[in-house]
Amino acid sequence: MTKLFDLNGRVAVVTGGNAGIGFGIAQGLAEAGAAIVVAGRRPDKNAEAVKKLAALGARAVAIEADVEDEASCRAMVAEAAERLGRLDILVNNAGIAIRKQPQDYTAAEWKRVIDVNLSGAFFCVQAAYPHMLAAGGGKIINIGSMMSIFGASFAVAYAASKGGIVQMTKALATAWAKDNIQVNALLPGWIDTDFTQSARSQVPGLNERVLARTPTGRWGTPADFAGAAVFLASAASGFINGAVIAVDGGYSSQV
Ligand code: NDP
Repeated sequence: MTKLFDLNGRVAVVTGGNAGIGFGIAQGLAEAGAAIVVAGRRPDKNAEAVKKLAALGARAVAIEADVEDEASCRAMVAEAAERLGRLDILVNNAGIAIRKQPQDYTAAEWKRVIDVNLSGAFFCVQAAYPHMLAAGGGKIINIGSMMSIFGASFAVAYAASKGGIVQMTKALATAWAKDNIQVNALLPGWIDTDFTQSARSQVPGLNERVLARTPTGRWGTPADFAGAAVFLASAASGFINGAVIAVDGGYSSQV
């Protein structure tokens, strides 16, 4: 029987792989056998993540990249494929939020959130496509949010970008199914990372609301993403394309 979840011989790029959910995913993929490219802006954090992945026995390299910039996306993917010889898996995880009321957003703030969270993912995907074709197929995992399906007063650009991630996932899945490329999305619930540490300090009562509203009764952790990512990156999900899977402790299942 094929080893359904085996990623030996595969190469994965994880944007924002140096911290939080991205690192949890990188760790899961590495443990399943994939070589990992950690792509982020901060060289110190990238190097630290690569060191931890190497300690697990994985081949891992860091590439400094800013997904807000189209050229940086393209250069990063080209360098990843060049250094590791192929590209099979792309995880579009890098993301930011600017939390303020819609009427207070500047055009530059709106553009920045959309560019990092949505356009960056698209440019990485576009750059990855020829390498996946050359490999005979590929796996793309886009990271959305509960804001892909719900709104929040402080998250107008973020919610627009994450809603866009879901629709982009479906369009790509439709376009590239013929090329044996599966494109799916994971929607995190409330996960304990640096990103939400800042939200907890900026949004009064958030911690209590998250605990009360999440049926599992706790915040998620980056390690909660390893299993879903390995599934979507492996042969196990060969007929799953354009799917949107919540990793949210039941948050989105409850009215
Ligand atoms: P963190 O802030 O902990 O990590 C964000 C990661 O993205 C870092 O590795 C950071 O690295 C990288 N990053 C940010 N901006 C850029 C950029 N312009 N170019 C390249 N890399 C960038 O966030 P989380 O782990 O919490 O979030 C990861 C993803 O999950 C995001 O897309 C977020 O929207 C989503 N999400 C998170 C939720 C949560 O509860 N935590 C809930 C729903 C969705 P560096 O700074 O070195 O560039």
